[in-house]
Amino acid sequence: MKKPHQKMSKFPELILNWYDQHARDLPWRVKGGGSVDPYHVWLSEIMLQQTTVPTVGPYFQKFLSLWPTVNDLALAPLDDVLTAWAGLGYYARARNLYKCAVIVRQNYGGIFPKSEDALLELPGIGPYTAAAIAAIAFDQPAVVVDGNIERIITRVFRLDAELPKGRPEIAAAAGGVTPKLRAGDYAQALMDIGSRICSPKKPKCNDCPVSDLCVCAHADDVGIYPKKAPKKQKPNRSAIVLWICNAQGQLLLRRRPEKGLLGGMMEFPSTEWRTDVVLDGAMRGEASELLQNFGLSRSADTEVSCLKPIKHTFTHFHLHLHPYVVTLEPDEQVMSNEVVWALPTEFTEYALPTLMKKVEKAVAVDQPVLPLI
Ligand code: SF4
Repeated sequence: MKKPHQKMSKFPELILNWYDQHARDLPWRVKGGGSVDPYHVWLSEIMLQQTTVPTVGPYFQKFLSLWPTVNDLALAPLDDVLTAWAGLGYYARARNLYKCAVIVRQNYGGIFPKSEDALLELPGIGPYTAAAIAAIAFDQPAVVVDGNIERIITRVFRLDAELPKGRPEIAAAAGGVTPKLRAGDYAQALMDIGSRICSPKKPKCNDCPVSDLCVCAHADDVGIYPKKAPKKQKPNRSAIVLWICNAQGQLLLRRRPEKGLLGGMMEFPSTEWRTDVVLDGAMRGEASELLQNFGLSRSADTEVSCLKPIKHTFTHFHLHLHPYVVTLEPDEQVMSNEVVWALPTEFTEYALPTLMKKVEKAVAVDQPVLPLI
């Protein structure tokens, strides 16, 4: 095994030199020492949580055109923010984004605080995001450690710390090489290298600016780092979702409760998401009850049809939704003030999450095949 021949103290310098020549052009990034708007940094960092750069780009531009400053965002109706966020997923982020904007406006006069501690107090900002904002927006020597940076650090130091438990050890190693100056550029450089060079599979070590220092590259065992605890299998849940269509071709939508998954988003009504995968009589009974709650007393037996189930994976479980199509007669009325009717062409005006867009797609492409029993 060949030993690394340069000292690890060279690490930040090599990373920053690489960044000066190869930094990605991103809509929220200012290169060449220009000043960065903390609002842009915060917005991009929240959007990038669990979401890729290509997906975030258009959403970031849309938010800036609708709400150019954090004060504009704070003064917008929450519903508009949720609607603009629809499709990005992890909707708690959108609600926290809004709460955070309101606090920054009310408590800080629309200017983000600079310290990691004060940033950590804000809704939706955890240790990683606080460090990223402090480093990128305010050039503070904060230790930024995301998944990309964890991968580089564990490989360069060949750390056996297993994820997720070993995070503090990895963060300590990252802290040991974080520079005092240009911490924001340094963090962004590592993010770029993690995404373009030190990828999870088949890293391009020949293109890497720190390959001479990298213990894993010299040991030729990059593929087994970072080490990860075995993944637990995700449980399954299932439910019936009702596609209720009136004689004008409008669909019935309702708002989900503010708290919980997809909180505050619009949905086609569904039965309780039960820990099961079986579409049984009890679930069909719940669907019929739900119809009755809307004042639809007619028998659904012959006019409700079931389509193939849709699978959607959340962080902690797989959801199997069975869409049931309910076509109302011209004289049938829904007795509820808590629903809205919308044509499919109007869905963009509502905060419909990706899951509900999948339902729409399934109904559009599938054929009714089974009656509700
Ligand atoms: S040399 Fe290879 S494994 Fe090491 S940091 Fe660079 S890309 Fe990653």
